[in-house]
Amino acid sequence: MTDFHYAADSDGIATITWDVPGRSMNVMSPEGLAELEAAFDRALGDPGVRGIVLTSGKADFAGGMDLKVLAGMKAGGPGAIFAGVMAIHRLLRKIERSGMDPKTQRGGKPVAAALPGTALGIGLELPLACHRTFAADREEARIGLPEIRVGLFPGAGGTTRLVRRLGAMAAAPFLLEGQTPAPKAAKAAGLIDEAVPEGELLDRARAWVLAATEADLVKPWDRPGYRMPGGTPYHPAGFMTFVGASAMVMGRTFGVYPAARALLSAVYEGALVDFDTALRIEARHFTAVLTDPTAEAMIRTLFLDKEALEKGARRPAGVPDQRVRRLGVIGAGMMGAGIAQVAAAAGIEVVLIDTTPEAAAAGLARIAAELDKALRRGRLTADRKDATLARIVPSADHAALAGADLIVEAVFEDPAVKAEVTRRAEAAAPEAVYATNTSTLPIAELARASIRPADFLGIHFFSPVDRMLLVEIIRGPATGDRAVAKALDFVRQLRKTPIVVRDARFFYANRCIIPYVNEGIRMVAEGVVPALVENAARMAGMPVGPLQLVDETSIDLGVRIATATKAALGADYPDDAVDAVLFRMAEEGRLGRKARAGFYAYDETGTRLGLWPGLAERFPRAATQPGVAEVQDRLLMVQALEAVRALEAGVLADVREGNVGAVLGWGFAPWSGGPFAWLDRIGAARAVAMARDLAARHGARFAPPAMLVAMAGSGGRFQALDGTPATI
Ligand code: NAD
Repeated sequence: MTDFHYAADSDGIATITWDVPGRSMNVMSPEGLAELEAAFDRALGDPGVRGIVLTSGKADFAGGMDLKVLAGMKAGGPGAIFAGVMAIHRLLRKIERSGMDPKTQRGGKPVAAALPGTALGIGLELPLACHRTFAADREEARIGLPEIRVGLFPGAGGTTRLVRRLGAMAAAPFLLEGQTPAPKAAKAAGLIDEAVPEGELLDRARAWVLAATEADLVKPWDRPGYRMPGGTPYHPAGFMTFVGASAMVMGRTFGVYPAARALLSAVYEGALVDFDTALRIEARHFTAVLTDPTAEAMIRTLFLDKEALEKGARRPAGVPDQRVRRLGVIGAGMMGAGIAQVAAAAGIEVVLIDTTPEAAAAGLARIAAELDKALRRGRLTADRKDATLARIVPSADHAALAGADLIVEAVFEDPAVKAEVTRRAEAAAPEAVYATNTSTLPIAELARASIRPADFLGIHFFSPVDRMLLVEIIRGPATGDRAVAKALDFVRQLRKTPIVVRDARFFYANRCIIPYVNEGIRMVAEGVVPALVENAARMAGMPVGPLQLVDETSIDLGVRIATATKAALGADYPDDAVDAVLFRMAEEGRLGRKARAGFYAYDETGTRLGLWPGLAERFPRAATQPGVAEVQDRLLMVQALEAVRALEAGVLADVREGNVGAVLGWGFAPWSGGPFAWLDRIGAARAVAMARDLAARHGARFAPPAMLVAMAGSGGRFQALDGTPATI
């Protein structure tokens, strides 16, 4: 045995310890499943063994299933997937029934799971099949079934067991949203039975095993007369839950995520039958989801490629560890405060500079308010809040930057202000790498103020900093490898996902998102009904419609960007039709959500009420309206073509960054796996035909880039299909 170790003691307890060699986190593999079964068979067959404790030799219990296994199952086709999943069900059912007589339900051996830390995916599905689950009460541990986040759903009995344990309503946040609470919250929600002090974990599990009665081993769903908590679909209470859940999921996802629909079907159909039939139903729906291209695209982008980037796929070779110890943040406004907050939360000492002591203190107060909010929501402890705040020193004196090894500047978007700040900061901290958080100014231009341009680069955070996972690192023409490595190591400390892009107008994310917003506004100018634009965008899987997005980021920002772009492009500027709408909105003071007036109407608290009725009068409705698909094609294609142009121009060096950056940075239809995955799915030849058709009707912005045309000719793809191993 390698993954599971077996030891029986004089109390008659067999301890099965999961400890996959050579990995920091346990993951399940076919070999692991076979070993686990052998260990259980041994314990069940040994008359000297009274009960079993299943635990881990690592700090955590398990991260989930090895995705290699899923890829291997997939290669065999639906029949092999179904057979593989059913084999897992049989094993977990064997553990759950633990040798008891099927008729009398007597004679079983108690099985306790003892989770020292994180238990995700099959790492929780396995404990759910045990008779009692203990978890060490560690704040940083995560317990849950996050499969839905990568386009799957729990397929090793987790769906069926959790719904029968908690009821469909209470299980919904864990199955449908993939929430992964810390042990204490997991216990409160009923995912596990006990959250115990770390040092007592094994003793408590053993004590339970020794004291367990035969009745403790029979799961509620194996008892005669079992009723599902909250009711089944044909129970009056259950009916509303199921109708409501279905409506909620469709309302949120517009049906573009096959896993969400399959999960609901598995839950609904499973609730109508006995437990073992429900497992078969779960396996059938899981098989269908795994053979759908959406799951493959999401796993690749949101798991494999994201993880590769986080682990340093783009880190320059040979540069020693550049972890940040002391960070200087200049500008204690919205972005600077956010950056200081996430850095301090990651354990980094921070100096937060603004023009006056009051402004710097206001930045710190803003951070304290954010942390208080997290505290109230139970996402943070008081100790952690205090420790985070204690790491931030506000100051108006650049001299306080001495000793900083990284400086991030987030002052006003004004080249003159930024140049002055650069000079003063570089003088105060001569060893530091210097980064600007600019969203629109070229790095090459800002680096002119630097005396050490090799140590100067862009680190572009998105707003709100504490929630957005993507960070764009921008390499200027003179930026050296050390600076890039420093930025990557910093992002890693923050547990965010980096992409490294080249210095060109709007870098990558904004370069693609601006055409999306502009296409939506352009349609309003054409007389397309605004609700059609917004709904088509949501139905294509965009989290926010283009008109809502421009309201959120503010219409005056849109005007500023348009004005600057027009000045730079001169006669080539393609967006006058967009500006006609944008500038008119700005003139009328409809600056977006912050003004409580934009493309949408708002109440006085800033809550969106609906699209502003005044739009119809200002931009009259055209006699003929496009179909939903046409609007969707325009909105997705305009972004995807821009992403291809960014790749063609070398702004992007890696398709993985293009996909991950798009999904994490601006929510490009996550079901698709990103713009390049979307184009691969359509096929280059069809994508070129679509783009040419759109170009003929709507303008040259849809003309397919040469790279895509060449790919159509050669039958190539942006990303080859391969089964890189990883876990979920
Ligand atoms: P902000 O106006 O909220 O904050 C700017 C802060 O910089 C203010 O507190 C101001 O007092 C301070 N400041 C100005 N001059 C200074 C100086 N000489 N020395 C020290 N402090 C000075 O702006 P923000 O939204 O936080 O944006 C800051 C930067 O981040 C800009 O470059 C912006 O383009 C970029 N950015 C903004 C967003 C966003 O969504 N707001 C997103 C990404 C990047």
